[in-house]
Amino acid sequence: MNRRVFLTTSIGLASAPLWSQSHPPKPYSTDLLLGQKTLKLYKTSIPLAKKAGRAFEKMQNAARKEGIEIQIVSGYRSYERQKAIWNRKFKANKTAGYSDQENLKKIIEYSTLPGTSRHHWGAEVDLIDGSQPKNGDVLLTEKFKEKGPYAVLKKWMDEHANTFGFYLPYTENPQRKGFYYEPWHYSYAPLSIPLLKAYTELDLNQVLKTEGLEGKHALTTDFLQYYYQNHIMGINPLLKNF
Ligand SMILES: [Zn+2]
Repeated sequence: MNRRVFLTTSIGLASAPLWSQSHPPKPYSTDLLLGQKTLKLYKTSIPLAKKAGRAFEKMQNAARKEGIEIQIVSGYRSYERQKAIWNRKFKANKTAGYSDQENLKKIIEYSTLPGTSRHHWGAEVDLIDGSQPKNGDVLLTEKFKEKGPYAVLKKWMDEHANTFGFYLPYTENPQRKGFYYEPWHYSYAPLSIPLLKAYTELDLNQVLKTEGLEGKHALTTDFLQYYYQNHIMGINPLLKNF
């Protein structure tokens, strides 16, 4: 396949790679990178690629010993699933009177364009503390702060997640662009770093405009460039250290 580099970006990281030295990038398929391949999952209760699933289970067991029940709210997500979410939001915003460009900007505050979700890779999880009572929406920033139900989980993750290979992509750093802070979303770095590296070699102009995608005509080169630089690459620098 003739793959072109979508954009030449300066990642601007001078330090030595964190994981990639001992884990050289593999030739990941385009299908896998876009969530269009059915991924073999570690377990039903841990919907992640095997290697990430094993590491997650170790972390879960360690936390359990301290009374924290790390529970996955969302793990692997397919392209089709993301497309259904996207199309539903696009249609609702359109009905509410948004122009196509306004619509795209509105959706990408919180949701990803199908084919660009890190959840497609089987290396990402959204998590909560299952030992706490659930009331309404669980993935809210305030629930992970101070006296929130997931504050203890968050503190534990701050201290231990990196030991197991898990990192926050969407950190609280105000300098970071793209998606808002997500204290619940963790990425298994030994897998996601080489996957992102392979991802940067895709021609997003070609692969993202698929049949049946709402708003695909509004996905201009300018929009995709903006989205790539701010949203796809707007993550914790440790996770793009390749
Ligand atoms: Zn997530």
